[in-house]
Amino acid sequence: MLRRSLPQVLCLGLILVLAANLLLVFHTKETVQNLIRDGLHKETHRPPSERDETMMNRLSHLEVAVQQLKENMKLAMKQQANVGDTLMRVEDEIHLAPKAVQGNVVKTNKPQPPKKLFSTSALFRQWGEGLAEAEQRKAQDLFQRFGYNVYLSNQLPLNRSIPDTRDSRCLQKTYPAQLPSLSVILIFVDEALSVIQRAITSVINRTPPQVLKEIILVDDFSSNGELKVPLDEKIEFYNKMYPGLLKIIRHAKRKGLAHARNTGWEAARADVVVILDAHVEVNVGWAEPILARIQEDRTVIISPVFDNICFDTFKLLKYELAVDGFNWELWCRYDPVPQTWIALDDVTAPVRSPSIMGILAANRLFLGEIGALDDGMLVYGGENVELSLRVWQCGGKIEVLPCSRVGHLERHHKPYALDLSLSLKRNALRVAETWMDEYKYMVYLAWNLPLQNSGIDYGDISSKRVLRENLKCKTFDWYLKNVYPALKPILNIVGYGRMKNSLDKGVCLDRGPVPGNTPIMYACHEFSSQNVYYLLTGEFYVGPLVAEVLRDDLCLTDPGHREKPTLEKCSNAAQNKLHIYWDFKQGGAVINRDTQRCLEIRREPSGAYGLVLQTCMAQVWEIQYTFGAWGQTNAL
Ligand code: UDP
Ligand code: MN
Repeated sequence: MLRRSLPQVLCLGLILVLAANLLLVFHTKETVQNLIRDGLHKETHRPPSERDETMMNRLSHLEVAVQQLKENMKLAMKQQANVGDTLMRVEDEIHLAPKAVQGNVVKTNKPQPPKKLFSTSALFRQWGEGLAEAEQRKAQDLFQRFGYNVYLSNQLPLNRSIPDTRDSRCLQKTYPAQLPSLSVILIFVDEALSVIQRAITSVINRTPPQVLKEIILVDDFSSNGELKVPLDEKIEFYNKMYPGLLKIIRHAKRKGLAHARNTGWEAARADVVVILDAHVEVNVGWAEPILARIQEDRTVIISPVFDNICFDTFKLLKYELAVDGFNWELWCRYDPVPQTWIALDDVTAPVRSPSIMGILAANRLFLGEIGALDDGMLVYGGENVELSLRVWQCGGKIEVLPCSRVGHLERHHKPYALDLSLSLKRNALRVAETWMDEYKYMVYLAWNLPLQNSGIDYGDISSKRVLRENLKCKTFDWYLKNVYPALKPILNIVGYGRMKNSLDKGVCLDRGPVPGNTPIMYACHEFSSQNVYYLLTGEFYVGPLVAEVLRDDLCLTDPGHREKPTLEKCSNAAQNKLHIYWDFKQGGAVINRDTQRCLEIRREPSGAYGLVLQTCMAQVWEIQYTFGAWGQTNAL
């Protein structure tokens, strides 16, 4: 339809665009006048936060209006120049035109409910109902590039309100009138401009102006053009309003997030630094608890409580209070708050936390004294655990503050790395080798790596070792016992890795479908569902390593009566006297100590090998790595 009536549509479109522009010019002029008239009461010192909100409101509106005007002007000029241009271009420009024009042009079509173009895309699961097809394409394209709904973000106000997720008792708290000054650092690589602006706006609007010294942006070598001149223009714009408030530092090559955080820290000048991702919205009252607590104790590193800004709808989802922990692969995760904190019966009290997630607040000088972030961490992951172990082992502490809340956008996928496990694995070994002493093998076990010659270059850690010496840091054993007793090292491991039967070395013992407790033989691969751990005491753990006090590993079990083995939670199984103990030596049979049956494999009707428990037929197994002297000396 549109293609056939192209010249008429263009003419009509052009006239309407120009008319709309004229209207907009007058409208904008009026907005500017209003702003000048109302806004010039603003003064030498920054107004209280309410007036700040109003001012930011006005500025945001003005900014949107100016931006729209600029775009419309550009559009009109383009349209004049390109009347004979290709169809694709024209469709695009009409689509960019102001709503009134778009409406008129589209009215030549009968309104049809738009087709869902990307029904399998996570973006459209709960969002995008009724969106026109061209808009769906645009939204999907932006979603793929950024991992969140940039199309929607670009329409939401920069100064939008979000629900106050604090416990009501936080509102009764009072803080000292004199608080330390604050540098807020926002790091980013290829984030959407509107998302970064919303983070900046939230910081300006929700931080007491007398403490907010500066906002430092660190661009870790983004390629997105929007983050170059357009971002510089925005910074200039904010700085007109708040002289000297915003600074930007750009890396000339990609350095990874630990280095980016350090770059921000080095540039900071205030008493306290808060290092945030650039896709956050700080919530009301977020800064005061942090500043007051650090004023009380300069050695405490603080994490706010996160809420989730949903990547598709941008709604704020409240998270319950938790502490920041990690597993033996050093992936971070939330852990329950400790009983000792619950016993205090004060929901506003700081909660001792084994780790941070990444976002942190600290006394600027103290963070320097303990070595800031480890620049040797690449891309993503592990740097938070490294800092946490260093802080705890070298005389500091980590706390989550229940009254300080920050909305954090959890994206659907990362724009800068397809597989984060590669950098996390490498960084995890770096942490293990620097801080984990005789327990470092647990990280190798969890990642299924050999203890020697892992083939992974974790970089130079000599300066970290010197730092550890100089700061007279405590051991990881101390950390485990005093800070994170929930992690439980396996003390009697003798073999680990893939478990193969000599009949077919292409298939491996596998944890089987989840949910479910039936192990299988499956084509060997790299994922942790095929991790196996054999203990001197006779248990076989199958699947991803858990090794925690409160959560069990899965033990290979002979149910006694059936042919198929099962997987049972180890401590339950031990209590219930299930048959979880096996005799095994490298290259030998796997024999259940109670039933004397052997774990063997047999072809199933499908032709694939299945697991069976049967009278021993002399089948033999090998486990990928042996631990200590086991396997060489026939110990056991
Ligand atoms: N980031 C960076 N350089 C990198 C990777 C990430 O500066 O090489 C930034 C990223 O833009 C974000 C922050 O580091 O602001 C944390 O990364 P991300 O949000 O992806 O991690 P998550 O919060 O999901 O753990
Ligand atoms: Mn993030």
